[in-house]
Amino acid sequence: MTSREIPKDYTPPADILAERVILVTGAGDGIGKAVSLAFAAHGATVILLARTVHKLESVYDDIVAAGGAKPAIYPLDLEGAVPDDYQQLAQRIESELGRLDGLLHNAGLLGSLTPIEHYDRIEWLRVIQVNLHAPFLLTQACLALLKRAPSSSLLFTSSGVGRRGRAYWGAYSVAKFAIEGLMQTVADELEQNSHVRVNSINPGRVRTAMRAAAYPAENPAELLAPQDIVGPYLYLMGPDSRDLHGLALDAQ
Ligand code: NDP
Repeated sequence: MTSREIPKDYTPPADILAERVILVTGAGDGIGKAVSLAFAAHGATVILLARTVHKLESVYDDIVAAGGAKPAIYPLDLEGAVPDDYQQLAQRIESELGRLDGLLHNAGLLGSLTPIEHYDRIEWLRVIQVNLHAPFLLTQACLALLKRAPSSSLLFTSSGVGRRGRAYWGAYSVAKFAIEGLMQTVADELEQNSHVRVNSINPGRVRTAMRAAAYPAENPAELLAPQDIVGPYLYLMGPDSRDLHGLALDAQ
């Protein structure tokens, strides 16, 4: 019987992602950084996308110092990017790397924790742009490449508040709900006619800058660090998860 969950304490072979090219958004910090380092340590060529160049350069240096495949850096502000920017990115991936085996939509913007009645309208648009429109546009631009790969993984990042609404989480919560809808829609469209598996992952509580901003009174020592949750991401990007499709999964 095929498992519909991520196995607990999954320990992948060292070369599980060899020959694969994987694009990670929000790769400069937090979970995206830890996951990018883990992908590279397991053989992948990682395309590191975020907005802050020096953070991306630091991840690049860490990967090279650890002996990983040479990554690529792609600075892009998802808030201001237009459809052509995403098409250009896909074209660059095709011309310079020739393939795309995985896309992890990880970048995220928290926005403010405010009741809907008072939620700032400009901030609402910014959060929806980064957390929903950007993954839609990037998915659209990259789908042809993902479909061409022999077995590829399209992974969206959700949240507990993307599965059950919570007071004050405003645009962030709404965008994460919509991400689940986008995931299910693309998964259904690709089920019969492609080798692309499509899922969402809720990282759970993780010690990052975003978490600290959302829960300033929380003791960070009680949270898992980003590097503690890379196992599920390796599983979902590697061939062992080939039968998982259309699922809302949890990293913890
Ligand atoms: P961080 O704030 O630590 O990192 C966010 C990353 O997203 C950074 O690399 C940041 O880039 C990038 N990013 C933000 N805005 C933009 C933008 N406009 N353009 C390009 N890149 C951008 O967040 P986490 O690591 O905590 O979160 C990662 C994902 O996990 C998010 O989708 C979040 O919603 C989700 N999540 C996190 C949880 C947690 O407990 N940490 C819980 C549930 C879900 P830069 O560094 O350049 O600013």
